[in-house]
Amino acid sequence: MVSLQLFHLDSFYHNTADIDYINFGFDEKVKISGDIINPINYENKVEFILRKALIVCGGWTGHEPEQVSEIFKKMLEEMGFVVEISRSLDVYLDTEKMNSLSLIVTQWTMGEITEEQCKGVTEAVDSGVGIAGTHGGMCDAYRQNTTWQFMTGGQWVAHPGNDGIEFEVNIGKQKNNILAGIEDFKIKTEHYYLHVDPAVKVLATTLFPIAEGGHTSNGKVKMPVAWTKRWGKGKVFYNALGHLANVFDNKSALEMTKRGFEWAARKEDI
Ligand SMILES: [Zn+2]
Repeated sequence: MVSLQLFHLDSFYHNTADIDYINFGFDEKVKISGDIINPINYENKVEFILRKALIVCGGWTGHEPEQVSEIFKKMLEEMGFVVEISRSLDVYLDTEKMNSLSLIVTQWTMGEITEEQCKGVTEAVDSGVGIAGTHGGMCDAYRQNTTWQFMTGGQWVAHPGNDGIEFEVNIGKQKNNILAGIEDFKIKTEHYYLHVDPAVKVLATTLFPIAEGGHTSNGKVKMPVAWTKRWGKGKVFYNALGHLANVFDNKSALEMTKRGFEWAARKEDI
């Protein structure tokens, strides 16, 4: 299992007063409601998995950040994470909070990030906190900030034909592909054209062109739809799907996201 922490019962009680469920490992969930009910404990210690995820939600509302964040929150809770949603980039300045996280989920299209906020998040990832996101919420955020793009591995530049393009997502056949087992699938949404870091490990692709545009004279190109990369000790995952919340009604799009979030989350003890 992952991210084991040892707490004395006293501090455990104190630290989890506002948490409803803790995943104790062994696939059990134990309800905490003011009192510890049936903790797995020995010699006055409790060993459990406590993985915290922070969703940073905001930016251009056309991408439905609130609705998408709720979908991700529910999914992460089902995966055993304790989830917090922040609607301010100042959360990146809270070093103590950042260091306590297993995973940052970024859901913030466009907008601006200050140098200090950017330093907070990139240093957290560099130290081992995972970061993951979808669509413009990760790779069309803070267009002026090249450090953000350097870390995330790509920047959206166009979606020829806009929303409503039907295209196929092809899952890579590599043995170590964290999306292995998901079948190729069709989806109707924005067809994201990105400028991509050559360091990324591509997990899924789509073929361009479909809609008209200046890009068509280049002929066929395989565009990454999902990738992983590293930033210092941290792991980075991106899925280009997710223009609107209802994109995640597509089970494959949601499963890709879930697999990536799980992969990116910090695994060692905090
Ligand atoms: Zn979009």
